[in-house]
Amino acid sequence: MTLMMPRLGHVYPTAVSAIGSVVQDAAGREWIDGSSGAIACSIGHGHPHVLEGIHDQLQKASFLYRTQFASEPALRLAERLCVKLGYDAAFFVNSGSEAVETAVRLAQQFWREAGKPSKTQVLSRTISYHGSTAAALSLSGHWPRRRTAAALTGTPTLPTPNCQRCPLRQKRDECQLACANAVEQEIERRGADNIAALLVEPIVGASAAGLVPPEGYIKRLREICDRHDILLIADEVLTGLGRTGRWLAMDHEGVKADIVILGKGLNAGYFPISGILASERINGLLTRNQASFALGHTHSNHPVAAAAANAVLDILEQDSLVERAATMGAYLGDRLRAMIDDMPFATHLRGKGMLWGVELVQDDISYSPWPSELNAADTVVRHAFDLGLIVYPSSGFINGTSGDAVIVAPPFNTPQAVLDTLVDRLTTALELAS
Ligand code: PLP
Repeated sequence: MTLMMPRLGHVYPTAVSAIGSVVQDAAGREWIDGSSGAIACSIGHGHPHVLEGIHDQLQKASFLYRTQFASEPALRLAERLCVKLGYDAAFFVNSGSEAVETAVRLAQQFWREAGKPSKTQVLSRTISYHGSTAAALSLSGHWPRRRTAAALTGTPTLPTPNCQRCPLRQKRDECQLACANAVEQEIERRGADNIAALLVEPIVGASAAGLVPPEGYIKRLREICDRHDILLIADEVLTGLGRTGRWLAMDHEGVKADIVILGKGLNAGYFPISGILASERINGLLTRNQASFALGHTHSNHPVAAAAANAVLDILEQDSLVERAATMGAYLGDRLRAMIDDMPFATHLRGKGMLWGVELVQDDISYSPWPSELNAADTVVRHAFDLGLIVYPSSGFINGTSGDAVIVAPPFNTPQAVLDTLVDRLTTALELAS
């Protein structure tokens, strides 16, 4: 009788404390959390203000059901997020996957309410991760994870921009954003009357370790969606609320989606909560139609989760942590760039803010990935772990192999000296793995 962990049969250390950027196990061993767990813990572990917020709400009302009551923390959270990010309504669920499914169903409901019920399909991209529940995984171009599920209902069809290895074999700067134009071709092939939404991660996270699109790509997607009257859904589960140095990764191109999905950054790892933000166009129509919003789960709009998220927002705002993610993220990026300069086998760095991906390739001439049987990223992650550093393996996309990049994404308030130690330990881990 045991707890099922990812590697069955493997003995994991039991963590007994996590404070700031440091996790400690029962034997007193310490790790720098260089990946914020699963790129969630943006404000560091054990922040007293969040603990207090959770504790206060637990004492007032530990559970209220969404069809019976609103709660003060959920109302406040919705209003704060809408005002800050320019949206009209918010709804909260528990995980990023659920929020993705909620966003998709909201888009479909919008078109039903708009008198266009044939608009149901959702387009997504071949390098992407939108979650592990069936519909979210169906929309994900994360091939190692797709292999674990049977009977998925869809497959991503659109190219994800990856200028280093352009999927359309275009020359950089001469391509005129062929990857965005491919979206329009797919819309024309399927017929805009059948399409509800385009779902994108503005900066790709788990499946490609901080892959940033070429400038103008997101803007072009917005134009294409507008031209064909298709909703644009930004999956900011991983990037939202500061991870890339802006409140939303869409802000880097000044583009507004119709629906934004938030997750990891909203809960910062403290309590399961994710959410969607809907534009005035969507919420206005549903409200005017007096539509029922029947999506949700037992713990939707959970008051304690909302209290935790409000406290996380307080800290992000009070301590200017999004700005810090930009400045310290640039510092970390410079350190990582200097590190890979001396390493022929880790030649490519990508990312923004506090989200960096170190791509593991055999050399910087052929730029070919390590053979998949070497499990390159897992090997580096394991060496780093032994050295007291947590980094996150990104299942790769190169030739369908997995594990070709390592994600470095520490909490935004990690002290500079800890970032330096992080880079030193990662350097040693990479050397050991080579
Ligand atoms: N969307 C994105 C962009 C993600 O990175 C993830 C998780 O990594 C998800 C959705 C799914 O979130 P969760 O694991 O909370 O279900």
